[in-house]
Amino acid sequence: DAAMYAAKRSGRGRYRVFSPELDTKARDAELRRAIGNDELVVHFQPVVDLAGGDRMAVEALVRWNHPTRGLLMPGAFIDLAEETGAVIPMGEWVLRDACRQAAEWPDAVWLSVNLSARQVMQTDLVEVIRGILDETGFRADRLVLELTESVVLQPDELTVARLCALRDMGIGISVDDFGTGYAALSYLRTLPVTVLKIDRSFVTGIDADPDAYAVAEAVVRLAQAYRLHVVAEGIETAEQARCLVEMGCTYGQGYHFARPMPGPALAEFLAGRRHATVVTPASAGG
Ligand code: C2E
Ligand code: MG
Ligand code: MG
Ligand code: MG
Repeated sequence: DAAMYAAKRSGRGRYRVFSPELDTKARDAELRRAIGNDELVVHFQPVVDLAGGDRMAVEALVRWNHPTRGLLMPGAFIDLAEETGAVIPMGEWVLRDACRQAAEWPDAVWLSVNLSARQVMQTDLVEVIRGILDETGFRADRLVLELTESVVLQPDELTVARLCALRDMGIGISVDDFGTGYAALSYLRTLPVTVLKIDRSFVTGIDADPDAYAVAEAVVRLAQAYRLHVVAEGIETAEQARCLVEMGCTYGQGYHFARPMPGPALAEFLAGRRHATVVTPASAGG
């Protein structure tokens, strides 16, 4: 494998030696092996109460500790995993590992885990998740599943039923990267959504561009109208945070507060906030 990658890396066009199809197969096999070999690792990024309160959440973000290429970010392998279906065993591994670690944290902290489109389509999704919760002892009402707008855009009946079943178990449902999917808003009435996450692209210009501010504020108002939690992602400056507080956004996530970090570092981060109050993200509007 190392030799294969060395061959690929030599020369400017990285993968030029291999046909795309062969290359996809080889990379897929490598990723599937990595899942079994414990090469994947979950990092956790805090989501904080923008008003300065103790309420906390944490988002699980997968990384691949590749034997020769170093620590890979999801951008380097998620699309491939989604294309080949490897994202299904990968997603299960992430959920299990994240729940196992989060079961040791204070009760007050909820855990957000990203679900891919493929996972949401899985007919046994509900049973798989129930199994992982049983196995790890993690409480359903501390778990939030993040779906992207492309998933919720036009859900078929069975998908809606699966999401409702998860919601009935007490699990929260979050719409990630909100605003990027060209989605009609009607799904907010059909699906049991509990959280909206404002995409980073709307947060970036918030302190300088009145249009960006207006869009973010509209999303906050929408969330309020539907009694949903609202999280702004990608907050990098104090000024951006201030703008979001001003418009009534309740939660924030971004490098300004903390970067994603390995489990033990996150546990330490939480230890400094031991008196966090209990939130149940699954119950929207709280
Ligand atoms: P996402 O779910 O929207 O996660 C937020 C991304 O923004 C993360 O990138 C995070 O590290 C990054 N981020 C957070 N704060 C800031 C900031 O202040 N500035 C900037 N520039 N970036 C910030 P990451 O970890 O590279 O993940 C990228 C995407 O990969 C995620 O976007 C999510 O869609 C996907 N992903 C990550 N883990 C998983 C997983 O376990 N399963 C699935 N299906 N997708 C995952
Ligand atoms: Mg996410
Ligand atoms: Mg996001
Ligand atoms: Mg995003």
